[in-house]
Amino acid sequence: MDFVANKTGENEYSVVCWESELKAICGMAAEEEMEGLETGGELYGLYTQSDKPVIMFATPAGPSARHGPGYFIQDLEFFKYANKFLFQEFQINFIGSHHVHPHFSFSPNPSSIDVQGAKSIGFKNSMEKVYLFTITFERCSRSFNKKIVRVNSYVYEIKNSFKPIPCKILVLPGISPIRRAISDYPEAKKLIRPDCYLPISQIRWDGCYQINSKLPIQKPQPFNKSLIRQFKRLPAEIQSKIQVQCDHEIMVISIPMPPKGTLYLGCVTQNGYRTIRSVYFSSTESLNGPIDITKRATKWGPFTRIQTIYSTAKSFIRHLV
Ligand SMILES: [Zn+2]
Repeated sequence: MDFVANKTGENEYSVVCWESELKAICGMAAEEEMEGLETGGELYGLYTQSDKPVIMFATPAGPSARHGPGYFIQDLEFFKYANKFLFQEFQINFIGSHHVHPHFSFSPNPSSIDVQGAKSIGFKNSMEKVYLFTITFERCSRSFNKKIVRVNSYVYEIKNSFKPIPCKILVLPGISPIRRAISDYPEAKKLIRPDCYLPISQIRWDGCYQINSKLPIQKPQPFNKSLIRQFKRLPAEIQSKIQVQCDHEIMVISIPMPPKGTLYLGCVTQNGYRTIRSVYFSSTESLNGPIDITKRATKWGPFTRIQTIYSTAKSFIRHLV
C-alpha cells in the first residue's frame, strides 16, 4: 500500500534547510550504515511569513536510541531534552523528523508507522503540519567518501489527514547559525556529532541550492581538471568538437551527437560547485525544437558525470524517429 499522495500539478510545498543540517543528517546516516544500522533524529526551525519551514538544526539519535537493521527508535529522554533546550535557548520548534529507510524496503515514502507517528505528534502538539525527511542510499560503499545519499522530503497535513505530500528542498549554503551557537554550550555537546558530515557533493535532493550573494562566487573554470577528465571519456572524434560557453556562473556545454544533432548541457557554478541543471537535445532532422531530456539524462542528479549523460542521451536519440 502506498502511503504517499500522488503529485497533482504544481507541488505547493517546499522546505528550506541549511546545508550544514543536510550534511549532518546524511553524515550520521552514512556512518551508521557502515554498521548496517539505521538512525534518525528531529528537525527544528522556524516558519516564514508564507508558512514555509526553515530547518535550522537537525538532532542526532540520543545515547539510548535503538538502532537496528530495518528500525530506529529515538531516545525519548534525549528528544525531550533537545526540545526544551532548543526552545529555551533559541526559540526554535520541532518541525518534524528524519530517519533512514532501509535498502530492502526500496521506498523512500513514509511508511504507515511514519504516518501514524507524524499524526500523533502533530495532534499532541497542536501542529498543522509535520515534515518528514527519509534518507535513502543511492550508492552504498564501504567507504564513507563514496556513498551517495538522498534526502526525500514530505509534509503531512494534520487537519486534512491526507497522505504525506512530497516537497522540494531549498538548501541555504553554509553552516546554520544555531549549529555554530550550540558549540558554545558545553552541556549541549550531545546535540552535535562532530566530524560526521557528508560532503554536499555526495548528497542528492529534489529542489535547489540557493545563491548566496554575500558569499564569494568562485569564477567558473570551464576547463578545470575534472571537466577535462570527463570530456576525455567521450569518443575521440567528439572531444575536439565540444564547445563551452560561460557567462558568470552559467555555463553551456555543447556536445555534437552525429549524425542527428547536438546535446546542450546547462550548468550553474555556485560556491565552487558545478551542477548540471538542464539537458536538451536539438535534432537536425526535427522542426519541433530542442527536446528536454534532463530527467532521463541526469539520473544521478545534478552531479551526474558527462559520460553518463552522453551515453543515456545516445540511447534515447537512437529511438527517435
Ligand atoms: Zn520511515
